[in-house]
Amino acid sequence: MIEQSPAFKQLLKNLHQVPYLASKNLYRVTAYFLSIDTEKAQQFCNAIMQAKNSITQCTICCTWKEKERPCFFCKAPKRNQHIICVVETWHEMMAIEKTGGYDGLYHVLGGAICPLDGIGPEDLTINQLINRIDENVQELILATNQTPEGEATAAFIAHHLKDKTVKISCLARGIPVGSSLEFMDRVTVYKALSERRPF
Ligand SMILES: [Zn+2]
Repeated sequence: MIEQSPAFKQLLKNLHQVPYLASKNLYRVTAYFLSIDTEKAQQFCNAIMQAKNSITQCTICCTWKEKERPCFFCKAPKRNQHIICVVETWHEMMAIEKTGGYDGLYHVLGGAICPLDGIGPEDLTINQLINRIDENVQELILATNQTPEGEATAAFIAHHLKDKTVKISCLARGIPVGSSLEFMDRVTVYKALSERRPF
């Protein structure tokens, strides 16, 4: 049985570590990699290594950026530097960006506080966010997901900024409770953002 092969086990073990790859698809994806020719497999490995070598996280907003170039958001003169939209992940940032209706800055937290999964504030980029808030920042939009974890994270951030003068807002109701911005249509995200309310 091929399942006993050390090489097969190693491939399966590595793929198993890929988040979002449902375990029901694990064998299908493994079979795909076994079926492609060596050149294609090499291209795949090269693409991962090239991305690893040339892409990094911006030290300010914590989104992805090319190592050799300034951050597309933080260093863009045309973007409104007085407003920061706080999201859990890069996917949600992309959902907001795709609406075309937001021209401020972002801050990617890297997830949400979730004690059950052992994720505390120190595992996220909350400290970096708090350190970013100075007199230049007029508004902070807390666009964390409307899940218990997302709401708790937003409350934690707001609590730590209560002594600052920055205006804190959150998305308008309309995003279904328990869902991520990532899966919302553009119009819904745009509406939630443009009709935002005080936190
Ligand atoms: Zn940045």
